[in-house]
Order: sequence, then C-alpha cells, then structure tokens
Amino acid sequence: MNNLKPIFQEYYIKNLIDLLLDKFKNAKFQLNEISNNKEFHKYSWPNIILSDEITLTNNSDETEKWNIDKLGKYNNKRREITLYIQKIINVSTAYQLTDINLNLNKVITEITTIVLLHEITHWIVTSVEVENSNLYNKHKYRSYQQKCFHEGLAQFFTFKSLQSELLSIDVNIFHWLNINSPTQYSIYAQLKDNEISTIIRMLIVARKKDIQEWDKFKELATLSRGTIKTGIYGI
Ligand SMILES: [Zn+2]
Repeated sequence: MNNLKPIFQEYYIKNLIDLLLDKFKNAKFQLNEISNNKEFHKYSWPNIILSDEITLTNNSDETEKWNIDKLGKYNNKRREITLYIQKIINVSTAYQLTDINLNLNKVITEITTIVLLHEITHWIVTSVEVENSNLYNKHKYRSYQQKCFHEGLAQFFTFKSLQSELLSIDVNIFHWLNINSPTQYSIYAQLKDNEISTIIRMLIVARKKDIQEWDKFKELATLSRGTIKTGIYGI
C-alpha cells in the first residue's frame, strides 16, 4: 500500500478538498487547520485507511458495480474513511478502455479525488460541528428518500468541487461512474445550479430539524430565505 500513498500528495486532490472545506469553514463549521504542515492539506481530515480489498459486497446487480461508495466508505461511528485502492485501480482501468488517449495514472488520481471528495462530504454533513445546529448522530439510511438525501448532498458537493476553474478534472469520469450507479447518486442534479453556500445554509437548518429526507430538504428553501433552483430532471 505504501507505494500508493503519493496519490495523496497530488496537488489537485488536496487543493480541491481544501477549496470545498474553505466554504464550510466560512459557514462556521468547526474545521481544524493544521499548523506546520506546508506540504500537505490545510485542514484535519478523518483518519483514512487504504484497503486493497477487492471483494464486492453480496450484490450481483451489475448496475451497482461501480457506485462511489463501493470504492470508498465513510464510517459514521468510527469517523473513518476507507479507500478501496485496488477497486479504484480496476475501475480506472475500465474507464481508460473508453479512450485510448487516457493516461491510467491520471485516471486513478482523478477517481481517487472523486471518491475522497464524496466520502469527506459524508463526514462534514454528519459529523462536523457547526454553530446553531446539531450533528446527525443517528444516521438514517434506510428509505429511498434518506439515501437520496445523503448521497444527493455528497454528490452535489463533489460535482461542484469538480467544476473548480483553478484545478480542472475530467468531469466525464464522474458522470460515467454515476451511469453505473443507482439513481440516488444522480439526484443531486435537481439542485446542481445552486451555489454551494446556499446548500450549506440549508444543511445547517436541516441538521437543526433532523431532516434526512431529500424532498423535505428541498422544501427548506421555501421556509428559509431565498429560493433554490430546481432542475427539470426526471429522476
Ligand atoms: Zn455516498
């Protein structure tokens, strides 16, 4: 596994995550800045485990084969992220086959970035303190609406981060992963035209009210100030 650790030194992995965390820090989320750490990232992250496990969970449904949470996982109780490096390499190899000009190492780095952004977002949404709100100590993830809420937010913040003008990343990879995933991984598109700050404001209210359903989350926009933009996606 040690030879894979340099992936985390890649400039745009750490900076895309810093840029996203900056927005949560601006909204008063209690993220700790690391001092004396010039060569790595800006804020403390949850512990990250690199796993070479390749077994997929007992789900033979081909449409679920490559969903992002099979490439990485956030454990809410342990506050720990696992990245399944070997699965990421396998998926990257499959993506590379779609275009002969793609560089495999670049694809691996980009998919690792996407997975890490997604899992870091699960951590922020559920487990990072913010003023005037609560944590999601009880993670609700049973109904389709609850899955849409948690995956919708993780995918929204990941998608918006990939659009950074400073650090370009192949957003086609993100869409390709979603085509191979259940619909809760695409529902973020209903809100994709909103600013990150708008959705963060709504999240703070949602945590206060312990809302963990996608449709109820969208209704918050009418209860709080402003409006949200809702896409016309038949999802
Ligand atoms: Zn997820």
